[in-house]
Amino acid sequence: MTQENGGAAQDATKEAADTAPGAAGESRPIDVVSLYAHDMNIYGDSGNVLVIEKRLRLYGYEPVVHLYNPGDLWPEHVDLVLGGGGQDSGQRIIQKDFLQRGGILRQLAKEGVPMLMICGLYQLFGKYFQTVSGDRIPGVGVFDAVTIGKKARLIGNVVERSRDFGIIVGYENHSGQTFLHGDTKPLATVSKGQGNNLDDGFEGARVGNVIGTYMHGSLLPKNPRVADFLIARAAEHRYGTFEPRMSREARHELDLLDRTAREARDVAQQRPR
Ligand code: GLN
Repeated sequence: MTQENGGAAQDATKEAADTAPGAAGESRPIDVVSLYAHDMNIYGDSGNVLVIEKRLRLYGYEPVVHLYNPGDLWPEHVDLVLGGGGQDSGQRIIQKDFLQRGGILRQLAKEGVPMLMICGLYQLFGKYFQTVSGDRIPGVGVFDAVTIGKKARLIGNVVERSRDFGIIVGYENHSGQTFLHGDTKPLATVSKGQGNNLDDGFEGARVGNVIGTYMHGSLLPKNPRVADFLIARAAEHRYGTFEPRMSREARHELDLLDRTAREARDVAQQRPR
């Protein structure tokens, strides 16, 4: 189910919540916010939303996707937030609304709501992004990080190693170079590509259940471990535990998806930079 309008989304969520989860066959909604997909969605980043929807269904949950754009009502219930990358101009378009939503995003992050922010929104989950032309676009400060635009764009395929998800494959294209501080840890160490900047060999950021990364791709189809992490944390946020309920057909379909992902990962790792 996809909700374009925040008001309708709230009604649908209430209705769904009236069906107490528990017995087999009952609906178990998970509310997913797709953040600013009109202005922040390049290199197929919205594919991440499709993967989450698909896998949630296979695990026996009902995804309720709220498309949130500037000026929309914020959904009443949020279990997972996904955001994509964008041009500097897209980052400026969302800026005002985004800062107004900063308080709620920081609060949700503190409550353990999982989030995945790609490239342009990753930068704005830090303290600020200073563009190549010198404008400073303020961020919401979930990450203790700053991003400085440089003349050289960092472009190409990336392979990196992470502690929690093993090898992650993707594609980067950014002028901003990100530097992490304090409790904000990198997501991964780069084996091929540049990552956050030209200096330290790190890529992405992690605070609690919030992941920021430069990896377009889309990321999640080729990195299902990251998708399953987000799904498990979202289910725990909503129901206390993650309990897949899968038919034999659903298991079979998931196996096929994962096999395709493995093949795509193998190819991606062989690609030239
Ligand atoms: N505009 C930002 C930069 O160039 C983000 C780019 C992106 O999201 N791919 O650094």
